[in-house]
Amino acid sequence: MKKLSILKLFKIKNIKKYKNKTIIIKGWIKTQRNSKIGISFIDINDGSCIENIQIIIKKNIKNYNKIIKLTSGCSLKIKGLLVKNKKKKNYEINAKYIKILGNIKNPKKYPLSPKYHSLEFLRKISHLRPRTKIFGAITRIRNNLIFNLHKYLQKKKFLLINTPIITSLDTEGHSKMFQIKYDNNKFFNKKSYLSVSGQLNLESYACSLSKVYNIGPIFRAENSNTKKHLSEFWMLEIEIAFYKLNKIIKLSKNILSYCFKKILKNNEKDIYYLINFNKFYNIEHINNIIEKKFIEINYYEIINILKKEKTFKNNNIKWGINISTEYEKFLTEKYFKCGLIIKNYPKNIKPFYMKINKDNKTVSCIDIILPNIGEIIGGSVRENRIYNLDINIKKNKLNKNKYNWYRDLRKYGTIPHSGFGLGIERIIMYITKMKNIRDVIPFPKYPNYSNF
Ligand code: ATP
Ligand code: MG
Repeated sequence: MKKLSILKLFKIKNIKKYKNKTIIIKGWIKTQRNSKIGISFIDINDGSCIENIQIIIKKNIKNYNKIIKLTSGCSLKIKGLLVKNKKKKNYEINAKYIKILGNIKNPKKYPLSPKYHSLEFLRKISHLRPRTKIFGAITRIRNNLIFNLHKYLQKKKFLLINTPIITSLDTEGHSKMFQIKYDNNKFFNKKSYLSVSGQLNLESYACSLSKVYNIGPIFRAENSNTKKHLSEFWMLEIEIAFYKLNKIIKLSKNILSYCFKKILKNNEKDIYYLINFNKFYNIEHINNIIEKKFIEINYYEIINILKKEKTFKNNNIKWGINISTEYEKFLTEKYFKCGLIIKNYPKNIKPFYMKINKDNKTVSCIDIILPNIGEIIGGSVRENRIYNLDINIKKNKLNKNKYNWYRDLRKYGTIPHSGFGLGIERIIMYITKMKNIRDVIPFPKYPNYSNF
């Protein structure tokens, strides 16, 4: 039989394999209980999964008197025999040796006691909140989502393009951008900003390499203090040469379905924990996406539905308006009770780069909106005709010269192409049913808050 290397570090997630073997675990104390008969029970977590493992420490362990004084948060190295507790049917470690790695000097001052803390409180200690079960679960789900987005796209032969974070161009036309200032703007010799989207740069690569994507940080200086907007967030952006709207729709559904399936499989215990934490008791919302239950509908049909509804405060509903959060909620949670793929919005409420339809009123685009979240994906066919693009640039009062390199893509061998952007945090909110986007990103940034 293979001999276990003493240097190997075992992870709680796969510990079952090592029943009746001497193993080494390193991790942090979650709870501790000392019995009167001289046994200490310590629950350890190592971050590999939501579950802890219990360590049983008897008096004969040489630093026993120090160990019983330890508190939640201290870190340990434990060597011991892994056994199955026949009564409780779980695994535990009979300690042979324990090394205290990190102590907590003044436990009374340690902000994370084992008691319940509100999410608002935890946000203020974003550097310590990964130690809680809830943030462990969210972090593992986030990791699995991003990993599987890459995996799916790589399997389909997409190329990863690292689009720039610093730019002098406004992708969306009229975004609120964070300006980079250093030595009175002389550094770059022109006004430069943090990017609101890598789309235009991706288009440059799609117009040669065909299928490209990026998963990167996005910065928006909108003063929107909502539960679903961050000043810094992460987005998957995709651009594909020769694709039309229907193919973009199909791809969006397939990517989501694939990743949600993987998350259910690999994060089963994390999801189970979240079910209790957020009290949602079933995973229908996840299964709906796996089964691709969406309604595809045109913008004008949505307007007709909204017009007939009498319960809205503002009943000035007409063709041309934006679909506000109130309307999104009504449509996804009351009327259709599922995710929507809304197509062909009026050109006047969409950015300059979207392709105008034959009606000369709408653009070939989609917004995918989900119950409880709102928009998770925004995509479109890109305007590939230089004549039309220039009209849009003018109409939107953009500086044409600034967009010259983008216009070159239309001047030199232009091709039909399409793409979309998917908000990573919005997807995590949807899966986990966390109510505030600030709790699904490691260190949230929002108006009046840039700590950490
Ligand atoms: P919204 O109407 O919700 O502000 P948007 O129309 O500005 O969204 P896009 O510019 O199309 O969104 O961005 C693509 C995706 O990025 C959105 O579908 C959404 O999932 C996500 N997203 C947009 N803005 C934010 C933000 N401030 N914080 C987190 N995610 C965002
Ligand atoms: Mg926005």
